[in-house]
Amino acid sequence: MKSGKQRRIEITMRRKKLAAKRHVKARAQERQLRPVLGPPVNEALLAPNNSYGAPDFVRRGFYVDRPFRCIDCGKAEVWTGTQQKWWYEVAKGFAYTTAVRCRLCRTKQRERSAESRRIHLAGLERKKRLRTKD
Ligand SMILES: [Zn+2]
Repeated sequence: MKSGKQRRIEITMRRKKLAAKRHVKARAQERQLRPVLGPPVNEALLAPNNSYGAPDFVRRGFYVDRPFRCIDCGKAEVWTGTQQKWWYEVAKGFAYTTAVRCRLCRTKQRERSAESRRIHLAGLERKKRLRTKD
């Protein structure tokens, strides 16, 4: 005959085992309820951010296409999951930034800022040259 203590240990063990099984099953069911519908998120590749929460795509586990309207020309465009994966994981874009310009306006914007950077640096160079002349 087993002692009460022995039986209690056996019961606790059995309960723990069953709870673990239930947990695994619930996880699998949850995954089935939320099928992967886009490129998977690799959290290790994301740029570090000091936010307490996680962006929606991290919680979801995959990227979904995001429709948006260009802030410059108003054209409706889609920021695809693949583009998002590249932006966050390869280009290390900040986790809370999203696409705001269409492809054409983005190219124009990039040229504008490159031009102003060139003018700015040329100005600094001219200033330096003037100072060294004195
Ligand atoms: Zn545009």
